[in-house]
Amino acid sequence: MRAGILTVGDELLAGDTVDTNGAWLAEQLTARGVTVERITTIPDRTETIAALVTEYSDRYDAVVVTGGLGPTHDDVTIAGVAAAFDRELRTDERALDWLETDGYSRGDLATGTADLPAESEPLHNETGVAPGCVVENVYVLPGVPGEMKAMFQTVADRFAGTVRHVEHVTVDEPESALIERFARLREQFGVKVGSYPGESVRVKLEHEDETVVREAVAWLEANAVVS
Ligand code: AMP
Ligand code: MG
Repeated sequence: MRAGILTVGDELLAGDTVDTNGAWLAEQLTARGVTVERITTIPDRTETIAALVTEYSDRYDAVVVTGGLGPTHDDVTIAGVAAAFDRELRTDERALDWLETDGYSRGDLATGTADLPAESEPLHNETGVAPGCVVENVYVLPGVPGEMKAMFQTVADRFAGTVRHVEHVTVDEPESALIERFARLREQFGVKVGSYPGESVRVKLEHEDETVVREAVAWLEANAVVS
């Protein structure tokens, strides 16, 4: 399964808020064997959201969208997703029922709180107010990290793929000195090699078969200065 992630928010693009949701979702999806192809941050602008949702929904098996839910003027994600699928916005009765059960009276809720694209599947916001939804292969989650995480857990089982095994080896050599050994690892073991330099080089070895990863780690440990 291949997925795209869209994080929505002017505050993310201004650098006011760090996009922790994108990283958390990528980690969750990867752990389930889903290949995350893109994490893209876009503004709170209906047309841009609609365009990217259309593109990613066509291109990937699943799209996760986070941010910009709620009834204020800058929360336009639901409208953007509805536009992407050419659907109208409708007040979702199931979402209203959840809100009532959660202690919010219908009269007190801001207009539009439970509006979702027509014929979408509503997702209960167990730790907040704004509901999320599923439209075809697009999962729309809140921006508040705690709310996003709780809602993702309710649909997590729908994301599945081939889980890849990963090991890290820390090497105390310059990255440029490792080029040939990286080539050998890739050719001999068929592992995916990631090289992440800092004070040392963190080498990430990845393969579907755990034994292959272990063999590649053993070879690297025997042929490099590891710490
Ligand atoms: P919003 O969903 O845009 O109404 O944002 C609700 C809260 O969640 C705000 O405090 C945002 O800054 C925060 N937030 C939204 N998107 C993200 C994200 N991708 N990563 C971390 N925090 C976020
Ligand atoms: Mg926002």
